[in-house]
Amino acid sequence: MKLLIVEDEDALRKALVKGFEKSGYAVDAAEDGHTAIDRFFDAHYDAIVLDLNLPGKDGIDVLREIRKEDERINVLILSARGEVEDKISGLDLGANDYLAKPFSFKELHARVRALTRRDYSDKGNVIESGPVVLDMALKQVRYKERRVSLTKKEYGILEYLMLNRGKIVRGEDLIEHVWSSDVDSFTNAFKVHLTSLRKKLPKDFIQTVRGEGYYVE
Ligand code: CA
Repeated sequence: MKLLIVEDEDALRKALVKGFEKSGYAVDAAEDGHTAIDRFFDAHYDAIVLDLNLPGKDGIDVLREIRKEDERINVLILSARGEVEDKISGLDLGANDYLAKPFSFKELHARVRALTRRDYSDKGNVIESGPVVLDMALKQVRYKERRVSLTKKEYGILEYLMLNRGKIVRGEDLIEHVWSSDVDSFTNAFKVHLTSLRKKLPKDFIQTVRGEGYYVE
């Protein structure tokens, strides 16, 4: 899962990036509205966390531009403007959720999780595929009732494959959703992580479809 965090307050932006990375997300950040728009056009995000009071281009304008281009992308507004009017105009412009500052990180994480998973299923935080169970709230994986210890990247790859189970996922899409945009030469890194992930799971749990991508039943 890949997020774009748009927040001009340095300390808060860094804390958000760190917190979400710790939870296994790939995270890009933007400190103003223009950078946010550039980032948005350069990558595919599962959700955008958008502050309203931004230098240069206001969050509401950013949201308007994003919606013109993409009606489906999940946007959560994060703002100190707790007033009802701001909330309404944000939601009217197509924000999917709104959280007023100050907020708890726990609540923000829960809301982002709810937003991103509804693209795939409404079945809650737990996805099962055969003997493998993945819990998106706990970021844990169990195989035959035993906890499987995964690195963040391994978890990210598996989560994206299991969210898309039954479908072939292209390698580029996996990389796009699991790595932040600043990382170079990820094809090799991806293959290394995929190989180590496969060793921890049942044989052939992640299938390769030659020339097309990867597949979990
Ligand atoms: Ca701000």
